Amino acid sequence: MSEKQEQIFSTDDKNYLPVFNRYKIVLERGDGAYLYDINGKRYVDFLGGIAVNVLGYNYAPLVDAISKQAAKIIHVSNLYYTEPQANAAAKLVKLSGLDRAFFGNSGAESNEGAIKIARKYAHQIDAEKSQIITAWDSFHGRTLATLTATGQPKYHKGFEPLPAGFDYVHYNDIAELEEKISDKTCAVMLETIQGEGGVYPPKNDYLKKVRELCDKHGALLILDEIQAGMGRSGKFFAYEKYGVKPDIVTLAKGLAGGVPIGAFICTEKVAQAFHAGDHGTTFGGNPLACAAANVVLDTIPNEKFLAHVEEVGKYFKDKLIDLQKKYPDQISEIRGEGLILGAQLSNSKKSGVEIVNECMKRGAIINCTVGTVLRFIPPLIIENAQVDEVINILDSVLGEVN
Ligand SMILES: *Cc1c(COP(=O)(O)O)cnc(C)c1O
Repeated sequence: MSEKQEQIFSTDDKNYLPVFNRYKIVLERGDGAYLYDINGKRYVDFLGGIAVNVLGYNYAPLVDAISKQAAKIIHVSNLYYTEPQANAAAKLVKLSGLDRAFFGNSGAESNEGAIKIARKYAHQIDAEKSQIITAWDSFHGRTLATLTATGQPKYHKGFEPLPAGFDYVHYNDIAELEEKISDKTCAVMLETIQGEGGVYPPKNDYLKKVRELCDKHGALLILDEIQAGMGRSGKFFAYEKYGVKPDIVTLAKGLAGGVPIGAFICTEKVAQAFHAGDHGTTFGGNPLACAAANVVLDTIPNEKFLAHVEEVGKYFKDKLIDLQKKYPDQISEIRGEGLILGAQLSNSKKSGVEIVNECMKRGAIINCTVGTVLRFIPPLIIENAQVDEVINILDSVLGEVN
């Protein structure tokens, strides 16, 4: 181990707020679907900065757009117009079939904005129409409202009192939603495909039925596509796969290929609830972030690009199913769509974290979520060859246990 690496570990460990259990590598640069640490060791990356680096690393058009924009102007206040922001908003409106976009800097901010506009919209109808229903095992962010929206008690603990008016149902359980929803429901907020909670896609027309229940009670449907959107499912918006249209959709993560950005997009009907001064942001959607987003928005929503995500996703899923057949005592289920895939671990002798660590030693970066699900959310530009690399490494790690 290099002295420099040790120095970085100790400087960081002493000074950075210790909220992450960090893996003991220092990442320095990337190229395509590969990352390199400070010692020059190469890793095939199937985490993609948690679904952020959709175009991989060092993607020339993205680097070029960011460099050119940085040389012109990095930031101006949202009190003024800029061309990159106007163009990015127009692209999101066109792609979504919705009417208005707003930019923030993160996923949590996108959802916070969506919750705020939904509340303001519903309050015009009835001051008590404020209930927001979300799903258990969801993930919506870390601000007080979005962590409350997040249906995982472990994220709530110690932060009470939490904002009022949130209620939870089990994802994919339409009967439970039917019981809880009422004319006092302001919005139902769901991930189109649950990510952090363990990679759970919607089943059996669930989202269509959710849409119907929302319409029946005048509740808004908010779909969080911060992780599953931007082409990851094989469609630009995952909701296109399931034949529904939300009133509000939220994006972030991959939207600017690694530059911090978030967005919510809504219908005109919802948009009119906000007037000048009702919401705002200093950085959100600045020209640098929007110049990067414009590259992503010009690249991913092309038939060829999305077909690639479908194809390599299918190849990967089939290979994971082969692994499941080979190690049925360790993997009980493969779930997901496109390039958001999960392998449910059963009582394997190695824990999820141990498997992740073993893979890292052998040159593959993968992720384990909720302790028992290996989650794969790679850059969307990966090829079958990289899938083979990761599958071979997983095979050797799982094989060792038997
Ligand atoms: C990551 C994530 C968020 C939060 O995004 P941040 O940028 O970390 O605030 C919200 N919703 C979903 C579905 C996510 O995956």
